[in-house]
Amino acid sequence: MKLITFIQNFKVCKVKSIALSLVVFAIFLTGNGTSAQNVSFGMLTDVHYAAIKDNGTRKYSQSLDKITQCIDTMNQTKVGFLIEMGDFKDMPVPPDSEAALGFLGKVETAFSRFRGDRYHVLGNHDEDCISKSQFYSIAKNSHISQKRSYYSFQKGGYTFVVLDACFDSTSVPYDRGHFEWSDANVPVQELKWLENELGHSNKPVIVFVHQLLYGNSKVTIKNAASVRNILEESKKVKCVFHGHDHKGGYERINGIHYYTLKGMVEGNFPESNSFALVSLAKDSIRIKGYGNAVSMSLPIY
Ligand SMILES: [Zn+2]
Repeated sequence: MKLITFIQNFKVCKVKSIALSLVVFAIFLTGNGTSAQNVSFGMLTDVHYAAIKDNGTRKYSQSLDKITQCIDTMNQTKVGFLIEMGDFKDMPVPPDSEAALGFLGKVETAFSRFRGDRYHVLGNHDEDCISKSQFYSIAKNSHISQKRSYYSFQKGGYTFVVLDACFDSTSVPYDRGHFEWSDANVPVQELKWLENELGHSNKPVIVFVHQLLYGNSKVTIKNAASVRNILEESKKVKCVFHGHDHKGGYERINGIHYYTLKGMVEGNFPESNSFALVSLAKDSIRIKGYGNAVSMSLPIY
């Protein structure tokens, strides 16, 4: 090789290696579980933690061991964030708000062992004998005001929207047990906020809401059709994740996936547990279920 050719090749190689280093550095900068486009996160739902005796298949006190297993797994896999989708705690019978706040403190401490951003979605049991503000005085959402029960955040190439359907059909928020759990609604003010958030997002959107946006039963949000209409009109929403229906489920309606994760409280540990790792890429959503949770690979349209 002539000396001049060698020098030219050397320069090309050096430019290539600098470019590669920059790409590696850029991926490193975006943090755990995220890159410019892709993002992964952990999810769990219906923990129902309470130091009370079991009720049928609901093993309330075992939820601490189950959540610990979930957090250990998520810390090892270095996901971008962790979200629990409602009914984080339960309560004694008769209702005792002091005891319920104690259960919430204990399960939030276990959840806080996750080394990354953490989020909560409100479920009906999160107001069974306490208020929404009491719930958020203990359960913290990363970088989100404690006054907000519905909110959005950005990670990787996605926008994530968390809805609160814990309002009755007259838009009164669930409060200290004063509600009927099957009367779940997303009030008009929140619908307007949702429309606005979707309108302003320049990224694909993933939605989380405790109660279901599909089906037609007691676990379905009363005004689900209005909510779905807004999601569909935006053409940005790819998937909605739910809790609430402990047996889990899946539907696809007009190009949007609706996945319900099985409830963590169900069954004896360690034979039973339920949580999932979700990996989002540009053209697919991969759900890896742990324990009884169902794995799915969903195309993005
Ligand atoms: Zn539940």
